[in-house]
This record gives sequence, C-alpha cells and structure tokens, in this order.
Amino acid sequence: MPENSTILIVDDEMVSRYTVEVLLAQEGYTLVFAECGEEALEKAVKLIPDLMLLDVMMPGMDGFEVCQRLRANPRLAELPIVMITALDDRDSRLRGIEAGADDFMSKPFDRAELRARVRTITRLNRYRRLIETEEQLVYLANYDMLTSLPNRNLLLERLRQTLTHACRSHQNVAILALDLDNFQMINDGVGHEVGDNMLREVAQRLTRTVSSMGATVARLSGDEFVVIFDTNNLVKEVSEMAQLMLDNISEQMTLSNHEVVITASIGISVYPSDGQDASVLLKNANTALARAKAAGKNTYQFFTTEMNKVALERLILENQLRKALTHNQLCLYYQPQIDSNTGHFVGMEALLRWQHPKLGLLSPVKFVPVAEEMGLIIPIGEWVLRTACQQNKAWQRAGFPPLRVSVNVSGRQIYPANLLQTVKDALTDSGLNPNYLELELTESMLISEEDNQKDSILAVLNELKAMGVLIAIDDFGTGYSSLSYLKRFPVNTLKIDRSFIRDIGKNEDDAAITSAIIAMAHSLRLTVVAEGVENLEQLTFLQGQQCEIIQGYFFSPPISVEDMTHMLHKFRNKSLINCES
Ligand code: C2E
Ligand code: MG
Ligand code: MG
Repeated sequence: MPENSTILIVDDEMVSRYTVEVLLAQEGYTLVFAECGEEALEKAVKLIPDLMLLDVMMPGMDGFEVCQRLRANPRLAELPIVMITALDDRDSRLRGIEAGADDFMSKPFDRAELRARVRTITRLNRYRRLIETEEQLVYLANYDMLTSLPNRNLLLERLRQTLTHACRSHQNVAILALDLDNFQMINDGVGHEVGDNMLREVAQRLTRTVSSMGATVARLSGDEFVVIFDTNNLVKEVSEMAQLMLDNISEQMTLSNHEVVITASIGISVYPSDGQDASVLLKNANTALARAKAAGKNTYQFFTTEMNKVALERLILENQLRKALTHNQLCLYYQPQIDSNTGHFVGMEALLRWQHPKLGLLSPVKFVPVAEEMGLIIPIGEWVLRTACQQNKAWQRAGFPPLRVSVNVSGRQIYPANLLQTVKDALTDSGLNPNYLELELTESMLISEEDNQKDSILAVLNELKAMGVLIAIDDFGTGYSSLSYLKRFPVNTLKIDRSFIRDIGKNEDDAAITSAIIAMAHSLRLTVVAEGVENLEQLTFLQGQQCEIIQGYFFSPPISVEDMTHMLHKFRNKSLINCES
C-alpha cells in the first residue's frame, strides 16, 4: 500500500540526502529535502510533514537549534523528529533530547533499520491524526459550530444525567426553553451574517447570565436555546434567572455597524412536577414558551399555572413596590410601649405599612423581605427614619411629654449603606433630640461572619451611641440568643420575642426562659421590653420579673398617627394599667 506521508530530510551533505532517497524510494513516501537549518524551518512550516530526519552537524544553524525552534512553534510541537548523529555520540544524543528530538539514528545508515523506523513513526503519526479527527467528529456531534454551545445531542445527554441525579437526591430541575422574538425579521431584514452574529452574541449573553448559577446552556437549532438549572428554590430563583436572561438579551447590540435590539420569550417546565423524562419536560417547556409568546413576548411562563401565579404575583409586587414610595403609599403605624410599673407611656415603635391601592393595608411581613432583596429597603428605610423622627418631634411640639420612638433597621441598611449619615440627616432635619430615637436591630446583624464587617458595624454603633441614639436588639431569642456577644456592642435595650411571651402561663419552659433572659439582661444593665403581651396573666408575670417595658395588644395594636394622637391625649399623665385592669 503506498504511503502518503511526507518526510522532510535535512542534511547539508548531498551524499547523505541521496542515500536516504534511494533507501526510501520504494516505500511510496513524499520526500522533501532541505540543505540547511533555515531551509528546514521554512519547509516545515509550509508543509507540516509527518516526519523529519534531521542531521545534527550542519554549518550555520545546527540540528539542535532547528529542533528547538520547531518545538517553539505550536503547530510543529508534535512533529516527530529523528536526529541523525555520528555513531555512539552520547553527548549529542543528550543534547538532542533536551532540544526535543524523539529518536536517534546514526550514520552510516543501516538500511533495514532506517526503513523500519520510518515506517513505524509514520504509521503512529497517521494513527494519532485519525484519533484527532475522531475527536473532532465527537466534538461536531455534540457542539454547535456557530456558538460553540452544546447542541441538542449533548443537551439531551446532560439532561438525562441531571435528571438521574435529581431523582436520587430529590432535587428539582428547571428546563427553560428560550426563543428569540421575531428573529426571522432580523435574518430577512439585515441579512444572515448579522443574524449569525446575533445568535453568537445571544449565546454569550446567556452563558454569562447563567454560568455563575451552575446552569447549562445549549442551542437546539435556529434561534432556540435551552437552559437546564437544578435548584430547590424554584419559583424565586428560576423566575429571577428567567427575568435576568430576558433583561440581558434585550440590551442593545452592535452587529456589523447595525444597532439592534432583540427580545426573547421563555417557557419553563420543572422536574418532577411537569414531567419525569427529558422529552416530556422539553415538550412542556415548549408549550409554556408558546404561551409566553401568546402573552405578548419578552416574558416568561411556567408550564404549571400554579407556579405562574406565584411568579406573577411576585413580579407585580416588585413593580408596584417600586412605585409605593414615590406614590406616597407607605405610612407608619405606631404601637405604644408602656412602663410596667407606672403604666405610663415611655415610647412607641414605628411599624411600616403599605396602603396598597387594590389590596388594602399590607403588613411589612408581606413586602419588607421583597424590598430587602430588591435593595429598595435602603430608600424605604431612609423614609421610615425621617418620617418617624418628624412625627415624634411633631408630637413634642404639640405639647405631649417627650417619648422615645423605636425604628426597625434592616441588615441591608447597616452595611454597606451609610446608616450613620441617614440617621444624622433624619435627626437634623426633624430637630429631634437623639435621646428620643431608638434603632431596633436583630441579633443576626451583629453576628457577622467576617471580622472587618463586624468591626465596621461596631464602629457605626459606637458613633450612634456617642450621638445619644439608643440601640435595641429586636426579636431576642429567635436567633443566636447569646447575651455574651452583646457585651461587645453598645446596646441599651433587649426586646424579648413575642413567641416566648405567647405561651407564658401555658408553657413552663417559656416562662423559665423568659425569666432567665430578663435576669441576664439586667446583669448586663439592659432595659427589657416584652413584645406581644396580650393578656393580664402575661403582664402580671412580666411585672413579677421586673421586666421594664410592655408592648402588645393588651394595651394597643399598632395604630395610625390620628389614633395615636387621640390615645396620647387620653392618657396624658394617666396610667394605662389602672384603666385596663
Ligand atoms: P417587629 O419589629 O418584631 O414588630 C412587632 C410586630 O409584632 C408587629 O408586626 C406588631 O404588629 C406585632 N405585634 C405587636 N404586639 C402584638 C401582640 O400583642 N400580638 C401579636 N400577635 N402581634 C403583635 P408588624 O407591624 O406586622 O411588623 C412585622 C415586622 O416587620 C416587624 O417585627 C419588623 O421586623 C418588620 N418591620 C416593621 N416595620 C419595619 C420597618 O420600618 N423597617 C424594617 N426594616 N422592618 C420593619
Ligand atoms: Mg421591631
Ligand atoms: Mg420584634
């Protein structure tokens, strides 16, 4: 069988070149000759031969240098090189190995050996190329040429693997089918080249959006993409990811000097609720995709209506919450805090409410966590602080005895936002004395993992204390519940969570824990507030434990400014305890 391999023979001696030519003549190789190092390099780059027979001893550039230079060229780094040395020249062989030679032969040639060696090396080389070609074929079978993303084949394989794993570990998997809106118009309008570039750009944007979340993107065909995402926090994380994908795709792109904007639609199915195997899940994701297109495009839809409802409600809530502040829909309610001994007002807690145009008065439990996730809690928290300070000052100006107002602060406000400046501004603008402002923090804010964060929170609290602002720990007992760390922070007040108060009288443990917390707090010279006091039994128990301040429905729920003004009038210099009991 004729050999197709190309062999480059490098030798300055004409006789040697001729000898090799004669010896290999019948083997069917393509023989190419070079007389010096420079010529060898030039021809090697041009031809990419299958084998080089390289003489060491040459005037000018010797064989070692040729070898080194070839190895420096990535395309020739794998070229088999056999060095021709003088018989038994051990030093040359060592240098040859260092320079990157694969094998050695000595002159004068042994005919049989030369033929056999050349045959073996060229055959191995052909075999290697075959493997490379096969690897390329495997690549082609699994990846999309245009975008380098996994194609349908690989997607299905990965999806099956993911589902097997999810089945074992009881995980959910979301399948997001994405299709560009009106892509055909781009293709027909500005041409296929722009269309191709757009698909590449979309592929990159998708990869950037989802890869940090450990999701896989694939291109199925045309403008159809699929993302596989395994998570347990389905509605929230998947909705967020889908929205982020849509947002990122719809940002303007510049393609071949054209400014273009494209949107996409997404359909989502979820394992195991929407299907058990890959094909059903893909089919259902596509059904949801069709619904997203029908719903006006540039949107996402879950396959199940229940999930759609949850996702939609959240989206609506987010959009409306953005407007709540600017449309003056937020307001503060105030709940009295009463001295357990005298029954007199000592303060009040400001509690946020959202007067929703359709849903009525909404509790902060419904929207504060969303505002925190969206970062909206920062402007909202600022508004709360200003409003509470202004209102408190207004009551003082109206002639009521000065009271302390407690304001809830979210962890998001304290770091990295500038809480200190916000508090200063709220106090300056309202003219409220800092002694009449208390900030309620939760335990988790003080127990930060990172030392530098802990230090900066400590610094902020120390400055607040220096200004005269009071600090309370809210919901004590629901978190880490350690009083020891409180010593490090300038805290004035401890608010026992209402879950402990609730079962006083019913549950001995809760009563015992409550007494212990009060005693320990007192040993740290902290004032104790009991939250959620609803009946006389709880009040009597807390009075017995010397708990200083009582807050709860027993005296009043949180009430509007008007109702609070009325209540302040009614109980001016009067005890609420004597009246109630
Ligand atoms: P919190 O600071 O622990 O507020 C006390 C919550 O307990 C209030 O709920 C109050 O209405 C309720 N409560 C008071 N007394 C009783 C009682 O006797 N029985 C029962 N069952 N409940 C009582 P609300 O107003 O719904 O506030 C819930 C949470 O929302 C607050 O818990 C606080 O963590 C957060 N929050 C309220 N306003 C703000 C704010 O302006 N900013 C921030 N970041 N969070 C706020
Ligand atoms: Mg509170
Ligand atoms: Mg609380």
